[in-house]
Amino acid sequence: MPSTMPYDAVIVGGSFAGLSAGLQLARARRSILVIDEGRRRNRFSSHSHGFLGQDGREPAAIVAEAKAQLLAYPTVAWQDARASDAKIEGNGFSITDSGGDQHRARRLLLATGVRDELPAIPGLQERWGKSVLHCPYCDGYELGGGKLGVLASGSFSALKAALVADWGEVTLFLNGEAEPDAEATALLERRGVAIERAPIVAAEGEGTAMAGLRLADGRLAPIKALFVAAGICPASPLAEELGCAFDNGPFGPLLRVDGMKQTSVTGVYAAGDAATGRHSVALAVADGVLAGTGLHMSLL
Ligand SMILES: Cc1cc2nc3c(=O)[nH]c(=O)nc-3n(C[C@H](O)[C@H](O)[C@H](O)COP(=O)(O)OP(=O)(O)OC[C@H]3O[C@@H](n4cnc5c(N)ncnc54)[C@H](O)[C@@H]3O)c2cc1C
Repeated sequence: MPSTMPYDAVIVGGSFAGLSAGLQLARARRSILVIDEGRRRNRFSSHSHGFLGQDGREPAAIVAEAKAQLLAYPTVAWQDARASDAKIEGNGFSITDSGGDQHRARRLLLATGVRDELPAIPGLQERWGKSVLHCPYCDGYELGGGKLGVLASGSFSALKAALVADWGEVTLFLNGEAEPDAEATALLERRGVAIERAPIVAAEGEGTAMAGLRLADGRLAPIKALFVAAGICPASPLAEELGCAFDNGPFGPLLRVDGMKQTSVTGVYAAGDAATGRHSVALAVADGVLAGTGLHMSLL
């Protein structure tokens, strides 16, 4: 139900960053509404790793527990919905949920995350989060060694291949990308990384498992997982519609924020993957703390 009084803040995105920001505001006895459509970035993975105290747990279970703890505070409201049509209205904002209700708030906090855009190689999309992976710290340990691939997509790929070599026997698949320079080649040699130059035709394997990459010359390069640096784009157009500025991050646009996590639009705050260049659950949670407390200061 829409409130007649404006909320202190509407938070769009009720995942790691949004929940964490909300918790700070709820503990400051501020009225908040969280609007979330439940499409977390890591929903393709069955387990989340590297977040202290929750290592190996289902991502959905972590979020469900955090949501229940947040909703225990009496000043918190929640809508399972998509938010759209955010507008600056007087000293605050209005925003509409997909049920058609309009909500008013003194501040907006965007914790809307990003969407991954995988290279257009057949077989990658359906294996995303299973045997096509983005982060060795998240999933590398569980692979248990063996033959691994890194798909080149820019000059940093050689460094990534050298890093992933701590988790297995690595091949860097250039797939048409430029040859590594002399320094990178020396690093790859030191780390025992092989280079494959034949173009990739498709990823193959039973179900979401990976048997290997089929190459243009007909060979199957056997690997059990491929690390891919996916491009990213904002998961929601809200920030763009509000006129928030973006900067170019290493993988795509990132919301520009100041030290208090305020965007270039006064009163609009942002946290999590949408607004930082380093992406993990722990970092999104930490960013949410900064945004929640930064937003709270602005209400004083
Ligand atoms: C396959 C995969 C596996 C990963 N595994 C790990 C791991 O093991 N460990 C780790 O630390 N990190 C992992 N990550 C990274 C981690 O998922 C992200 O860093 C984290 O989810 C970022 O949290 P966030 O709150 O910023 O965004 P998200 O978790 O993406 O949440 C954004 C939320 O905003 C909602 N939203 C967006 N727009 C709207 C709108 N207009 N209206 C309403 N709601 C909206 C979305 O539906 C979603 O619920 C993984 C990422 C991927 C892609």
